[in-house]
Amino acid sequence: MRKRALLLSAFILFISAAFLKADDFLEIHTPVFTVYCDPSINLDRLYKKINRRRLYFYKSTRPDPSSTAEEKMAFRVNLILEKVKEILGMYPASMNFKIKIFKDQVSVTDAYRGITGRNDKVKAFYVHKLRTIFTSEQGVTDSVLAHEMGHLLQNYYFVAPPSAKISELLSIYVDTNLEE
Ligand SMILES: [Zn+2]
Repeated sequence: MRKRALLLSAFILFISAAFLKADDFLEIHTPVFTVYCDPSINLDRLYKKINRRRLYFYKSTRPDPSSTAEEKMAFRVNLILEKVKEILGMYPASMNFKIKIFKDQVSVTDAYRGITGRNDKVKAFYVHKLRTIFTSEQGVTDSVLAHEMGHLLQNYYFVAPPSAKISELLSIYVDTNLEE
């Protein structure tokens, strides 16, 4: 049984490697994430898509106006994570994660099938083994990112991660409380 689990893990990692290969993807760095963007993505449009929700904070929620598109993306991704940490009350010491943003939904569906073996059409998903959130320019919003960051934080924070049902409830809670 244990051997089977090990083999399965190895298989998942092997399959996942194909979807993580990011040679030609643009890299954007935040204190916690490396964000890999498909090179055909329009960064200004992407930034607008993850800049819809008004996150309430004691600090500035706007990047420096003179920032580049990449800097704005990094600022916003980091801000969303900070808000998710605040909502869940989970403040892990140091984290190192990835976000992979494909151009379209088809690529997300392909990656999801390749990694999980399931055929569902999801806008985004998080794989803890790979410490990676997968999504696309087409499907991403700040709500979607916050939801997946909710899953990420729970998986990182709890020694025994909560059941899929509880994890989903907590991530929905994150999304509905972004303006609180
Ligand atoms: Zn979820």
